Amino acid sequence: MTKRVVTLAHYYTQPEIQQMADKVGDSLELSLYAKEANADIIVFAGVRFMAETAKILNPQAEVILPDAGSTCSLVTQTDVAALAKWRKQHPDHVHVSYINSSAEHKALSDWIVTSRNVDDIIAHLYAEGKKVIFSPDRNMGGYLNYQYGYDMPLWSAVCEVHDKFNEAALDEAFAVAGAEKYLIAHPESPLPVLKKADYVGSTSGMLNWVKQFSGSPDAVIFVATEDGILYNMGLARPDLDLRQAPIYAGCQCNSCPYMKMNTIEAVKRAQQGVGLRIDYLSREQMDAARLPIERMLEFSQRYYA
Ligand code: SF4
Repeated sequence: MTKRVVTLAHYYTQPEIQQMADKVGDSLELSLYAKEANADIIVFAGVRFMAETAKILNPQAEVILPDAGSTCSLVTQTDVAALAKWRKQHPDHVHVSYINSSAEHKALSDWIVTSRNVDDIIAHLYAEGKKVIFSPDRNMGGYLNYQYGYDMPLWSAVCEVHDKFNEAALDEAFAVAGAEKYLIAHPESPLPVLKKADYVGSTSGMLNWVKQFSGSPDAVIFVATEDGILYNMGLARPDLDLRQAPIYAGCQCNSCPYMKMNTIEAVKRAQQGVGLRIDYLSREQMDAARLPIERMLEFSQRYYA
């Protein structure tokens, strides 16, 4: 019998990969799609933690990552044994983890969040009188502490792509961009960049901001996130002057090397069943990691209904 193959692609993959996919989205959208997917095989053109999340949410499906090297610096900079020790040092805190984390990391968490719902979930926990520790992204956690006056202890890992955006390069770009300019930024960026932003939000949030933009047609919009999303933004609003925020003068070149490992050939091979099979997680690991993810999904259904 022919196997049903569903291909998912993150916004940060190259346009040709997105065109091959059944669904294109950010982490939360793809997780939800994977959970409900009626598929024998899910090919996940993204990075490994995303494929693991798909497997955890849809354990019946065979999940294949096109290139085994597609990791994420937020994962590789986090030693799970040290994380477990850090968590034990805060026994009266709720441990909130960003979805950009390994399955083992998720299993050590009380809540998983995405960049779309992190503000609301942490506000909800504080409203209940809880104390919170946040991992692994120190830029995202630092922004939340700054923006809302929290005092969350933070784990110290960064996205090696977003962490390259910097104030000096932005100031130079702003200086020559004309009278009307905007910055929209992903919260994985450093705080000095986020402080300058007109909008801070998830990849989908930034895409929506661009779709709804009603300023001058002469405006320049700088986008501080991975360059893949510029493709979707350009499709949605070809009339706008959209530029990736620079990391140094003259550079609109900040790509995620792990996302770009999803080549056309690798995705085609994965659709034939060749790639990294996410079959190494034990049932116990998946059950433990699923709990905080389900908590987030239930919250999102209630809160955003
Ligand atoms: S862009 Fe950053 S957070 Fe996203 S997969 Fe690449 S390294 Fe990880």
